[in-house]
Amino acid sequence: MIAVANQKGGVGKTTTAVNLAASLAIAERRTLLVDADPQGNATSGVGIAKATVERSLYDVIMGGMPARDAIAQTSLPHLDALPATQDLVGAELELVEAHDRETALRRALDSIRGDYDYIIVDCPPSLGLLTLNVLTASQGIIIPIQCEYYALEGISQLLNTVRLVQQNFNRSLAIDGVLLTMYDTRLNLCRQVAEDVREHFGSEMFRTAVPRNVRLAEAPSFGKPILMYDVQSIGAKSYLLVAQELMRRIEGGTPPDDAPPADATTAGAPAADATSEAEPAAEITP
Ligand code: ATP
Ligand code: MG
Repeated sequence: MIAVANQKGGVGKTTTAVNLAASLAIAERRTLLVDADPQGNATSGVGIAKATVERSLYDVIMGGMPARDAIAQTSLPHLDALPATQDLVGAELELVEAHDRETALRRALDSIRGDYDYIIVDCPPSLGLLTLNVLTASQGIIIPIQCEYYALEGISQLLNTVRLVQQNFNRSLAIDGVLLTMYDTRLNLCRQVAEDVREHFGSEMFRTAVPRNVRLAEAPSFGKPILMYDVQSIGAKSYLLVAQELMRRIEGGTPPDDAPPADATTAGAPAADATSEAEPAAEITP
């Protein structure tokens, strides 16, 4: 179980959770996308209309509903979703009084862990009890960082929270990766941010950075992961590369059968895509 978390808003958490989950599913990993944000953007991002959701993460955490009963299939084989609605705001408040206020989610999801190879959780932009519950339940965290001024602002607070969770609730929580999002190779600012992040995180940084790509921003309005909206886009290629890196980190050994050879990282740069507004898939090399 991997949390996609950063308390900063709008840095690409949901875009990463949705498209990473879809990319893992394409690689035939049984994948569950859990939406732990009351905004419900990951839910609608995989084509589940929030208004039609009858069973959601709120029922699972606060109502004792078995997680399996709230899980919905998506149109992508191997990808299921556990949706969130506005109700989840209530959980953030109700958990304060709960006896298992940091561990409620871990307990609630225990019964379905074995059903999946990967569970990717989209966190809300805060370090409140929902995020704390996700970190307590997860083995790993991926931190998306947007290439902008003050990119690293708030990161120390996030890392403090990770340490607090490790010390008190979940010793096995590890940083699975730091991912640069909305990267623009033409901007000095982005290169500077990449340098700062590398200095801070070293090899924890993903080699692939996700470029700014309008197709990634458009796909949610069609309720589709980028792979089902525009598979040729640089955004789709980038998230496939991120998923490959993640699988190599977690599963180790050789790249999966269905993955292109490792040197394909640069092949992700789409010469054929020159007409799109996209930046080439950015591989960050020291
Ligand atoms: P929140 O904190 O509100 O949950 P978030 O961290 O989940 O936000 P996203 O919703 O993924 O961030 O992204 C914020 C906005 O930026 C969205 O409109 C999204 O479509 C857009 N976006 C994310 N990544 C990219 C990208 N690589 N290129 C272009 N647009 C992007
Ligand atoms: Mg989000």
